[in-house]
Amino acid sequence: MTGRARTILVTGGSRGIGAATAEIAGAAGWNVAVNFRSDSAAAEACAERVRAAGGQAITVQGDVSDEAAVDAMFDATRTAFGAIDAVVVNAGIVAPASPIAEMTLERMRRVIDTNLIGALLCARAAARHLPRPLDQPAASIVLISSAASRLGGANEYVDYAASKGAIDTLTIGLSKELAANNIRVNGVRPGIIETDIHASGGEPGRAQRMAPLVPMQRAGTARETGEAVFWLCTEAASYVTGAVVDVAGGR
Ligand code: NAP
Repeated sequence: MTGRARTILVTGGSRGIGAATAEIAGAAGWNVAVNFRSDSAAAEACAERVRAAGGQAITVQGDVSDEAAVDAMFDATRTAFGAIDAVVVNAGIVAPASPIAEMTLERMRRVIDTNLIGALLCARAAARHLPRPLDQPAASIVLISSAASRLGGANEYVDYAASKGAIDTLTIGLSKELAANNIRVNGVRPGIIETDIHASGGEPGRAQRMAPLVPMQRAGTARETGEAVFWLCTEAASYVTGAVVDVAGGR
C-alpha cells in the first residue's frame, strides 16, 4: 500500500457532492475515477479540476442501475490505476414533489433503480474489488444517504426517502459483512445542500426556501459534504465503520 497513490471511484461524480468529493481527493493526491451517466462535458470538467488539484483522473460513463455498466466501471478504474481503495456510492436522483397518491409506478421504479439497485450493484462490485489483508490500510465504501431517511419526505418524495432508509440499513449490514475483508463501510446523510438536484426535482430554489428550517439557518455546500465523505475514505477514519454521519446543519 505504501508508495502508490490511492484510488477512489465516485459514482455520479460529474456534479454536486460527487464532484466536490472527487476534487478534494485529487487535492490529496489520489487517483480519481469520475463516473457519470449522461453529462460527459461536466464529468470531463470535474476530471480537469482533479488534475489541476494534483491528482490523476479518468471519466467513466455508466448508469449505476445497469449491472454490466457498473462492472465495466470498476474494471475500467482498475485498469487505469491498478487497484481501487475507496468507492463513493453517490449517484442518486429525486423526482418532482408529489404525494404518494399521485405517484406513477414508472417514477417509483426509476428512483428505486438508481438509488437502491444502483447502490446494491456498486456495493457488490466493491465487495469483489476492494478486499485486502487485515495488516494493510483498509479500503473504504461510503454510501450517500439523506436526512430524508430520518425525516420521511412526506408530501414531496416518500419514495426517495424510503430508498435512502434502505441505504442506512445497507451501510450497517455491509459494514459487518465486509469488515473481515478489511473494508470499512460508512454512510453520509446530507441535509439541504446547494446542488443541481433540486432543479432536477422541479424546484431550483428549494435549498434557499428550506434554509430557514435548518437550525444553522443555511443550506450546506457540496464541498462541506465532500469533506466528510473523503474523511471517511482516509486512514484518518481508520477505526470508523458502520457509522452514518449527518452533514445537515443540525436538521
Ligand atoms: P446532483 O447535483 O443532481 O448530481 C447527481 C450526479 O449523479 C450527477 O453526476 C449525475 O450524472 C449522477 N447520476 C444520476 N443518475 C445516475 C445514474 N443512474 N448513474 C450514474 N450517475 C448518475 O446531485 P447531488 O445533490 O450532488 O446528490 C448526490 C447524492 O447526495 C445523491 O445520492 C443525493 O440523493 C444525495 N443527497 C443530496 C442532497 C442535496 O440536498 N443536494 C441531500 C441529501 C442527499 P449525470 O449528470 O451525468 O446524469
